Amino acid sequence: MALDWRGQLRKAARTLSDVEQTVRLTEQERRGLHWAEHGGMPVLIPPYVLSLIDTDDPQCPIRRQFIPRAEESQRVRGDLSDPLGEREHEVAPRLVHRYPDRALLLVTSTCAVHCRYCTRARLVGTEDGYWSLSELEPAFRWLEAHPQVREVLISGGDPLVVSTRRLDALLWRIRRISSIDVIRVGTRVPNVLPMRVDDELVTMLRAHQPLWIMTHFNHPRELTALSCHALAQLVDGGFPVMNQTVLLRGINDDDQVLATLFRGLVRQRVRPYYLLHADVMEGTSHFRTSVARSLEIYSRLQGKVSGLAIPRLMVDTPGGKGKVPLGPASVVSMESHKTVLRTFRGEEVVLIEPGQFEGHR
Ligand code: SF4
Repeated sequence: MALDWRGQLRKAARTLSDVEQTVRLTEQERRGLHWAEHGGMPVLIPPYVLSLIDTDDPQCPIRRQFIPRAEESQRVRGDLSDPLGEREHEVAPRLVHRYPDRALLLVTSTCAVHCRYCTRARLVGTEDGYWSLSELEPAFRWLEAHPQVREVLISGGDPLVVSTRRLDALLWRIRRISSIDVIRVGTRVPNVLPMRVDDELVTMLRAHQPLWIMTHFNHPRELTALSCHALAQLVDGGFPVMNQTVLLRGINDDDQVLATLFRGLVRQRVRPYYLLHADVMEGTSHFRTSVARSLEIYSRLQGKVSGLAIPRLMVDTPGGKGKVPLGPASVVSMESHKTVLRTFRGEEVVLIEPGQFEGHR
């Protein structure tokens, strides 16, 4: 019988010997797994995710996201252990405030899978799971005292691996803060633990609208029958679903792969929201593209893929200074009476600015 979501977590691969029961490992992976077991971010791969891995292909894009490699032990210039400066911007335990009208609440350190490029590797799988409402109470009080914050992103870890009952209690507590309009839930569950998205969860979440679901699909191979069913449950449940993709070298740094992913998401009624240039997390330099390469890939999507299927390319700047959008250089020149624009085909088009020639009519 297929495992339910709790069984998936119980049976997850956590050690080199667990993983090698399914996957023919390379020497690089063996060393990476050894590193993970002795001080790196712990390994966690549920059987469902293992089933998506091409066990004979070391370049498999699913495998590369979840099986560590020896490069993880390397540190390069610019690497940070907390690249988004979350510790520095913590205004109450587990509450991070970096933008005027929104805040990030970290409700658990547990995930359904451990992604090797994770920005919060300092946290993930290292502490004791879920933080109780009483531990989070100072964060709720801070939000009550700061009504300019209108949106809370709950993340972790992954909030959807918290039990339905506990998550419900947490969401009710947030809903008691009258200034909070919108709750966002950041989750990788739909693509790595899709059996978790069931009627009970959806019914509970519906009581807390408006609630936006932020998913994290990185490759078209993650769009399986099961994950598409999980997305359909959420969309049919009435939640706007947006996706954030991390641009990862050797995994999805290819415009055709991204176009297939983004079109596939739109087909599931999920809006590709951000394409994130990878953070400068320590031990992840082997995953990072240069900014020039990110822009080159992004530029190739322009005009060729429906606007519905094109996310914004963003860099989350080191130190928690905020996200910066990147785009192809579409403005060639600007003068008072005209602007020259470059189209996705590379043609230059003159746009006459308003009000400059009225005297000559
Ligand atoms: S699911 Fe998110 S928080 Fe968890 S390891 Fe992956 S990227 Fe990090």
